[in-house]
Amino acid sequence: MSERIAIYPGSFDPVTLGHINIVERTSKIFDHIHVVVMHNPSKKYLFSVEERVKLTGLSLEHLSNVSVDYHCGLMVDYARKKGVKCVIRGLRAVTDFEFELQMANANRSMCPGLEIFFLMSDVTYSFISSSMVKEVAKFGGDVSTWVSPLIERELKLKFVQT
Ligand code: ADP
Repeated sequence: MSERIAIYPGSFDPVTLGHINIVERTSKIFDHIHVVVMHNPSKKYLFSVEERVKLTGLSLEHLSNVSVDYHCGLMVDYARKKGVKCVIRGLRAVTDFEFELQMANANRSMCPGLEIFFLMSDVTYSFISSSMVKEVAKFGGDVSTWVSPLIERELKLKFVQT
């Protein structure tokens, strides 16, 4: 039987416990997961693409069947390049649904045969987003239950520098 391989694309700016939970759960279902740090040069990020790849990789190093890569461009081009037909996305609340539905249909129209697998966020992490983490950390708020200690430290360093 061929290997079940999936990609999990996102900005991961920065990776949160919500993202990690999705990868931990799906890594038990798929043989291998490529977590893909997406980079759009016209978007503003707090962490550079190199930093996002490094921090996401360190946060997932306990999972032996997960690798972290980056891609600048369309997710479907990355999937084609890797010959991967499965994409994982996390769903937190109904507010994610409309955007994810539109993206899933657009991606499937560009790349027929692609399947998008949605996993409901664990209730503990369902309100966590990278943008909220950044906003709270910027003002010195406690994000220790939303991100790993590594990311918490990196956020503090970023906001001391800026
Ligand atoms: P994007 O820039 O595509 O929104 P993100 O890095 O924010 O990328 O998210 C990548 C994927 O992880 C998306 O499918 C998003 O819905 C999901 N995700 C983000 N935060 C959480 C969370 N707290 N719980 C579950 N899934 C999440």
